[in-house]
Amino acid sequence: MIKRILVTGGAGFLGSHLCDRLVSAGDDVICVDNFFTSQKSNIEHLLDHRNFELVRHDVIQPLFLEVDEIYNLACPAAPGHYQYNPIKTIKTSVMGAIHVLGLAKRVRAKVLHTSTSEVYGDPDVHPQPESYRGNVNPIGPRACYDEGKRAAETLMFDYRRQNNVNIRVVRIFNTYGPRMHPFDGRVVSNFIRQAIVGEDISIYGDGSQTRSFCYVDDLIDGLLKMMDAPDDFPGPVNLGNPGEFTIRQLADLVKELTGSSSKIICGRPQPEDDPARRCPDISLAREKLHWQPTTELKEGLAKTVAWFKSIDFASYRAPTPNY
Ligand code: NAD
Ligand code: UDP
Repeated sequence: MIKRILVTGGAGFLGSHLCDRLVSAGDDVICVDNFFTSQKSNIEHLLDHRNFELVRHDVIQPLFLEVDEIYNLACPAAPGHYQYNPIKTIKTSVMGAIHVLGLAKRVRAKVLHTSTSEVYGDPDVHPQPESYRGNVNPIGPRACYDEGKRAAETLMFDYRRQNNVNIRVVRIFNTYGPRMHPFDGRVVSNFIRQAIVGEDISIYGDGSQTRSFCYVDDLIDGLLKMMDAPDDFPGPVNLGNPGEFTIRQLADLVKELTGSSSKIICGRPQPEDDPARRCPDISLAREKLHWQPTTELKEGLAKTVAWFKSIDFASYRAPTPNY
């Protein structure tokens, strides 16, 4: 059966890869985006497919469509993007969730919501299992994103309990790959762009903070598996790569893979509330979805570097001045 699938934030980094996979599977895909942090080049190649439709729309407004499944990705994800207009960020998370849930309730669609490892804040449990309730500063500069995502999770589970909406929630850990915005300010895109153009590679703090980096193709596999999981497993489930690296190690690897002569500079101011360590416990995803990432960091970074080398940075508009 051909499914009608809505992807909010479908023109973004993850959304565009998800649309690719759904379009090639033959489903009817509606991509909704306001292009705040993305540009049409991400989905340009899909525009002449009969089973792909693009709608410019802001999810803080309700939307009326008939669909079978909804992937809710619309939300700025890079710190420099979500902190640019924090009130809009939390509105996007909360109003966006309410609108997709209202739509799902009306047309009886399944909703998969993309939450984030940021719901764990600066974690004092390591690695982070889904049962950990987190250490989030509710009034700090990251709160618009963290608390917005936490409220969206609450809404998902309340619509499930109160209205029987068929929901599923994934908590995504740092994901990277081709089509990351070169000026999104995230660590992978910053380091690769800096290395390619010969700028200093900017480490915030001493570079001992850690992250776990998942290659985009692995992550999309996880999203598709979660949408097809049994209805009695709504999550939340962590999706990420459990390999943990310091930011210093990442900088060294990027320098090696790009063959760059850029200098690696430590000690740039570290952002407030920057989590010191982050690593997913993916036991639940392994058990319930039979999912685990298969792409090593070096292999995924090499593909990402190749893509960054193939694009013209001048054709990208920086969504915010924060990169
Ligand atoms: P992205 O910024 O590339 O994509 C987000 C998309 O949503 C963009 O196309 C943007 O224009 C769109 N958008 C933003 N606000 C909107 C609004 N009000 N109405 C309509 N569209 C809007 O980011 P991404 O990395 O692709 O992230 C996608 C989703 O996954 C986000 O919800 C993010 O929180 C979540 N996530 C991503 C990561 C990651 O490492 N990439 C980690 C955790 C969670
Ligand atoms: N970071 C860095 N240099 C950069 C960008 C980021 O050292 O140019 C650090 C940042 O302080 C954080 C980590 O890299 O500790 C990951 O940052 P990112 O913005 O990619 O995402 P986060 O995981 O913090 O949401």
